[in-house]
This record gives sequence, C-alpha cells and structure tokens, in this order.
Amino acid sequence: MKILIRILFIFFILVLTGIITEFIYYLPSHAFNAFRYYTLYGGGERCLNKLDQYTDDFVSLGTFEKGNCRVKNAVRISSFINTQLSGDLTLSCPTALEVGQYFRDIKAEYVEHIGTYNCRTISRSKIMSEHSYGVAIDISEIDGASIKNDWNKNTKKGAILSNAHKVACSYFSNVLTPDTDKLHHDHFHFDNGYGSKCF
Ligand SMILES: [Zn+2]
Repeated sequence: MKILIRILFIFFILVLTGIITEFIYYLPSHAFNAFRYYTLYGGGERCLNKLDQYTDDFVSLGTFEKGNCRVKNAVRISSFINTQLSGDLTLSCPTALEVGQYFRDIKAEYVEHIGTYNCRTISRSKIMSEHSYGVAIDISEIDGASIKNDWNKNTKKGAILSNAHKVACSYFSNVLTPDTDKLHHDHFHFDNGYGSKCF
C-alpha cells in the first residue's frame, strides 16, 4: 500500500512538472492545450443580449470545434454601432463584447484587423494560439493610424495608437505591440487568455 501511494505521488509530481515545463519552455506536449480547451467560457444567452448594446450587425454561430480548436458561443460581427470594420470578426461572445466596449471607449470609427478566429499554434511553438479559441484579435490600423508606420511616433496618429494601447490594458489579459517582438511589427494582438495585462 505504501509503495502504491509513493508511485502515485511520483506520477502526480511528474505530470505537474510536465505542465509547468511545457508552459515555460513551450515544449511539444499537450497538457496545456487540453487544459485550455476545457476551460473556455462562452457566456451563454446573457452575453448575446449584452452584445446587442454594441452591435446590431452580427449573427450567432453557436459553439464550433475543429481538432484542437474550439470557439464557444461564437458570433460573427460585421460592424459595431459606432465602429466600421475592414472585415467580419469571428469571436467567442465574451471577447466580442470586450472588443465592442473597447472600440466604444477609444471612440474608434474605423478599425482594420488582420485576424480573429484562426485554428493554429503560436508561431514557433506547439501551444495553440488564443486565436484558436476565438478570444484574440489582431489590429493593424485604427482611424487611419497604422501600427506599422505610426507606432511610437510623436504625431497625432502616434497619439491615437498610444492611447489605444493604454486603454487596451484595462480590457485584455495579453496586449502585444511592435515593442513586444518582431512578429508584431505591424499589428496589435489582444487576447483574453491567461496573462497579466500590461506590465
Ligand atoms: Zn494575434
């Protein structure tokens, strides 16, 4: 009996170490992906009702899954009441709601985005991107201010972007900019995964 307990204890420690190591070093095991997949939150009917306050131009798609990807309570939004979009957004309802509130907060009239739901891993890693769960958006331009050309500039457009960045920190748990790494030289990435807002 004592031996069995010892074996179980060692097994438990190994699994725990596996998850932590995978997370820190982006190793190719699947514990974190599985954990993330099962902990997604869709917000239900209540979220859809709240979304009505921000857009009258959306359709509900329900929950859909594809391989390791899953979007809970998905919506496709063509425009928000005060904000026009370069293309439709496909997002899980709680994230769609935050995006709507955020655009209203920064008074964005036109937003160009280069992606929302997309079933893929994070670049150079085996961990699924938050885009796979419909809780992330990549934005390339806000009201004529381009992240590629106007970020960190001491101009009117630069000010639009620095304000957009500052406000994003109170809405999203991960906010990536051209200052984060080269992969984000031309867009902001905002998502609602595990993260620590801006630091
Ligand atoms: Zn992204």
